[in-house]
Amino acid sequence: MSRGFDPILFDLDGTVVDTVVLIRESHRYAVRAVLGQELSDERLVANVGKPLLEQMHAFSPAHADELYRVYREWNHAHTAELIASYDGIGGLLDTLTRDGRQLGLVTSKSRDAVDLAFRSLDVGRYFDIVVTADDSERHKPDPEPLRLALERLGRGVDGACYIGDSPFDIQAGKRSGMVTVAVTWGFFGHDDLAAVQPDITCDTVADLGRVLLGAP
Ligand SMILES: [Mg+2]
Repeated sequence: MSRGFDPILFDLDGTVVDTVVLIRESHRYAVRAVLGQELSDERLVANVGKPLLEQMHAFSPAHADELYRVYREWNHAHTAELIASYDGIGGLLDTLTRDGRQLGLVTSKSRDAVDLAFRSLDVGRYFDIVVTADDSERHKPDPEPLRLALERLGRGVDGACYIGDSPFDIQAGKRSGMVTVAVTWGFFGHDDLAAVQPDITCDTVADLGRVLLGAP
């Protein structure tokens, strides 16, 4: 496609903002404090991309509510200190906006956590719409949040793509009928992403820019 994509939907964590350390350490704190367990980094982040309470259920159904509460308390207290930006993402969002592309954010984070992230990193203003875990009944890998995003933009799937760092993002994108773009700078590696067969895989923000803008 010579013009790239429009509208362009993004996942947040591990895609637009670098919350890898923040989220992994929040999980570590909660699992240690509530369950007294030390888990590997891989197990701690295995379900990142799903809503938080679902992730906590995977650690312990009986203690999910307490894990959720302890996680959020630690996470929110440490967001400003541990959240980081990915080099070039702000510039890319700026370029896409100036070029007239419609941008949307579709995240499994709750609204208050999204607002907290946007207070630390000034990227929220680029998105025409934001769909959070609070907005839909079902969540990624279900396509409902992506369909809701298109509906709010008043657009169809033609020309649309969804960009994410987790297999759940790619599964949701495929089920919604849009083109899927996997990025490898977030929580998941090449193999985890290749297993769900994204249409396009980008290793750098510069690659992503070329894909989205339709540059050769
Ligand atoms: Mg993500």
